[in-house]
Amino acid sequence: MIIVLLGPPGAGKGTQGERLAARLDVPKIATGDVLRAAVRDGTPLGLEAKAAMDRGDLVPDEVIMGIMKEALASPTAAKGAILDGVVRTTPQADGVAAMLSDLGRQVDAVLLFDIAEDELVRRLSGRTTCDACQRPFFGRQPGESCEADGKVGTLVRRKDDEPDAVRKRLQVYRDQTSPVINWYEDHGPRVVRIDAIGSLEEVEARALHVLGY
Ligand code: AMP
Repeated sequence: MIIVLLGPPGAGKGTQGERLAARLDVPKIATGDVLRAAVRDGTPLGLEAKAAMDRGDLVPDEVIMGIMKEALASPTAAKGAILDGVVRTTPQADGVAAMLSDLGRQVDAVLLFDIAEDELVRRLSGRTTCDACQRPFFGRQPGESCEADGKVGTLVRRKDDEPDAVRKRLQVYRDQTSPVINWYEDHGPRVVRIDAIGSLEEVEARALHVLGY
């Protein structure tokens, strides 16, 4: 199954994507994670993406399509994948559909994490992220350590979780990503809304339910 997770920044796509991937035993493909690792490692991809990411802007569609081409063709994605943070523009929706079609596949489900904007601002401004495993934490301070995932990391405040960048990301979501909802309504599959407010377990149960689990 190829499942696209849609929703604004801070809606919980990454966290729920991780849980769904473990539950369905498929990889999570998160372009934001790939880009942050590239920035951290100083690769050409990272150097190209960093300025846009820090501002809260999107990186160019061609860059994202390059990442997706490799990720979707990988043998680990043969059984399916959870797409987290991609698809973010209608050209990306076209591009992913074409790549999947070349592989004889298609997007099987689109889940839209639904949440009010004031809750997003509250969540993102209180978020720290592990620089090793990329897990988000709420109510923990930058500089604390994270031992999850077997790697010891340090909690940092993502540059794009600073207030100006958060405002920018929400605007980018409204302008460039929300049209993707209509794109899927037109092309299929049907977009299923999930109430993203609640405990991790509650939101996960809602997502699994609409996926038929
Ligand atoms: P995320 O971790 O999904 O919030 O992504 C962090 C940042 O990476 C975004 O604000 C964008 O700058 C960039 N990014 C991640 N995925 C995409 C995408 N599919 N299209 C364009 N930019 C992306």
